[in-house]
Amino acid sequence: MQIAFIGLGNMGAPMAANLLKAGYRVRVFDLVEGAMQALAGEGATPAESARDAADGADVVISMLPAGAHVKALYLGGDDQPGLLEALSGQPLIIDASTIAPEDAREVAGAAARRGLTCLDAPVSGGVGGARAGTLTFIVGGSEAGFDTARPLLEAMGRNVFHAGDSGAGQVAKICNNMLLGILMSGTAEALALGVENGLDPAVLSEIMKQSSGGNWALNVYNPWPGVMPQAPASNDYQGGFLVDLMSKDLGLATSLALTSRSAIPMGAQARNLYALHAGGGNGRLDFSSIQRFYRRGDTP
Ligand code: NAD
Repeated sequence: MQIAFIGLGNMGAPMAANLLKAGYRVRVFDLVEGAMQALAGEGATPAESARDAADGADVVISMLPAGAHVKALYLGGDDQPGLLEALSGQPLIIDASTIAPEDAREVAGAAARRGLTCLDAPVSGGVGGARAGTLTFIVGGSEAGFDTARPLLEAMGRNVFHAGDSGAGQVAKICNNMLLGILMSGTAEALALGVENGLDPAVLSEIMKQSSGGNWALNVYNPWPGVMPQAPASNDYQGGFLVDLMSKDLGLATSLALTSRSAIPMGAQARNLYALHAGGGNGRLDFSSIQRFYRRGDTP
């Protein structure tokens, strides 16, 4: 099976690497030449363009920052034709980026008008999960498309869910990431409070992990530098999941809540915290750097 993989950032590169390890043939494209070259070392074939990567592919997978990138890729714009128009075959399309449900539905609708199946398949599990092949895929789209995609997704992830029709994967992912934004900022806040009252952050983390405050941030992604050597916090908040991307996802949650007239007071609080943090020049840091928002003289 020939796969086109478009978008080789923090998540896309290790996901494509896992497809190669599973024996798939993968043609890759990214605007950053170095990202393609790194994967060529693992057996991928670099392409000249997204269209070149998708030529003759059975499946096209995209992992791009936001909805605007996904729509520009598939639908085109500024007099540039989109990939859907340029495709010669009938590949299954899987967009794993986190984008607005209405953007996912728009792309899937345009694909369907050309006889193509397009799934939204956003992921959870972070860069660690992408590397380890233990991501959770949350899929929206047809049952038949889901069945075809499943073996591929299982080469990159451990849990594969069918959330419902087109866009449903994005709705579930947005709910999850709103909760993650709330949990990460709450965890950072609790750690700062403990340290400011004389506790060792590693000891406090262990106590909360084994107590009723335990959560994913404490288990695998501790925001306090030095507590967890593999976490971005211990690497000056480099890599991982960017503050800009978390801000985008909390914005998606806000839009979704406006559409459904839902109240999200905690999500709104997290969105504002991340907006302030991003506005302070931290957009390219990992999202656990929200810890720095609580900085006082004696904290990192
Ligand atoms: P990233 O910014 O690290 O990577 C995006 C990549 O897309 C970059 O390499 C960029 O050059 C490339 N790109 C942009 N436009 C392109 C185009 N037109 N053609 C080809 N390549 C293009 O982002 P990421 O962290 O890999 O995240 C990707 C998506 O996954 C986002 O929607 C994000 O919200 C979501 N996500 C990220 C994480 C995480 O932990 N990083 C976890 C779950 C979901």
